[in-house]
Amino acid sequence: MVRKKEIIELKIEKIVNGGEGLGYYNEFAIFVPMSVPGDILKVKIISVKKSYARGLIEEIIKPGEERIEDTSKITFEDFQGCDFGMLKYEAQLKYKQLMVKDVMSRIGKNENIVVYNTLGSEDPYHYRNKIIEPFAKDKDKIITGFYQRKSHDVFEVDENILNSKLGNKIIEELKIILNREKVSVYDENTHTGILRNIMVRTNSKNQAMVVLIINANKVEKRYKDILMELKNKIEEISSLYISLNNKKTNVALGDKNIFIWGEKTLTEEINGIHFNISPTSFFQINRAQTIKLYNYAISLFDNIENKIIVDAYSGTGTIAMLLSKKAKTIYAIEVIESATKDGEKTACENGIDNIKFINGTVEDKLNDLIKNNIKIDSIIFDPPRKGIDEQSLHAVANIGIKEMIYISCNPSTFARDSEILQSLGYKIDAIQPVDMFPGTSHTEVVGRFYK
Ligand code: SAH
Repeated sequence: MVRKKEIIELKIEKIVNGGEGLGYYNEFAIFVPMSVPGDILKVKIISVKKSYARGLIEEIIKPGEERIEDTSKITFEDFQGCDFGMLKYEAQLKYKQLMVKDVMSRIGKNENIVVYNTLGSEDPYHYRNKIIEPFAKDKDKIITGFYQRKSHDVFEVDENILNSKLGNKIIEELKIILNREKVSVYDENTHTGILRNIMVRTNSKNQAMVVLIINANKVEKRYKDILMELKNKIEEISSLYISLNNKKTNVALGDKNIFIWGEKTLTEEINGIHFNISPTSFFQINRAQTIKLYNYAISLFDNIENKIIVDAYSGTGTIAMLLSKKAKTIYAIEVIESATKDGEKTACENGIDNIKFINGTVEDKLNDLIKNNIKIDSIIFDPPRKGIDEQSLHAVANIGIKEMIYISCNPSTFARDSEILQSLGYKIDAIQPVDMFPGTSHTEVVGRFYK
């Protein structure tokens, strides 16, 4: 056993699901965030439970081979908010693959499944096309950055390595102006102060939309002027908004997004389809990897020519649009109304007329399609972290759907659903992990279930 605050020496054996390292101290399991297999560490225990404890790195005595060269960095904050930042990129990909194997055998009860090498990114840095950073005060200076782990204190980093370079440049320049203007910063305890968050969205043409989120109920000239000065300094800025948010909430954007200057939307293209992105639109964070993921997922269909396909949890219908060139009809089911509307608009702008957008839950609307005797050939699922509702899996099995493609941002729920599907008679041969979020422990997976 160990005690809280005790400092122990520990060798890290492996990385477990969730991304933390695991070592044993007198056979007692100790989890250590940001540790690497092979690390020999001084660890300070921060919490003790019945069967395990958790500790933080105090000192690296001997680094594991897969640790990046710079061993002065040991915390989440040092790694600019990347919980896999301490791992060399090849090792990140390897551990993502191993985590998927692990959950598939533990939760999915499928030891024999083939898990391919993680599809990695050519450039694991600066991939984020959307940044939202909170403002904070450091003494008298206005800063932006990340929330520290498990607190609401903001820390600033020199250069956020995941943000687009253009996004970082804009935020740096904005902070210079805001500091000169001595604008007040929002304080969530007293609900006073102006500056809440800054959002920057960028596209592959290196254009940017800037949304300044403030605690106010109208736009004063002062804030418009600040944004106009910013856009005069940075020519890549193509769109300016101020978002009014005077609610006591953790949600960054307010209900009113006031257009200030330039283009109303940012445009982005994926495989020849053009998307108009507004401040509230959903769009995948990492475009290059999204293209790989969706192209791979679509390649898994046996045949989509002239088929009727359901895109379940469709968001703004990106996958449906990619399928629309070959498939006969696609039903895109999505619960958020604005996403459905964005999808309809994008389809219309791209001259796509074979997608039927359905607003509602997959639980309800998939059943409606079935009740109405729509002859569904295949389904592609891309649910949020909680996975697919069990009733829906039973419903598709009942009507004997032959093929389902399942994309998941959470391998644990994918494994759980995979066990259910296997008990309903479906087979899955292989899983492809895709690295949508380099530098973090998040893993996306995709697989094909068939009968
Ligand atoms: N493939 C999509 C993204 C999917 S993200 C795209 O490319 O845009 C998962 C989506 O599922 C989100 O848009 C979320 O709003 C939606 N969602 C969550 N729960 C749902 C439910 N029960 N029924 C339908 N959609 C749901």
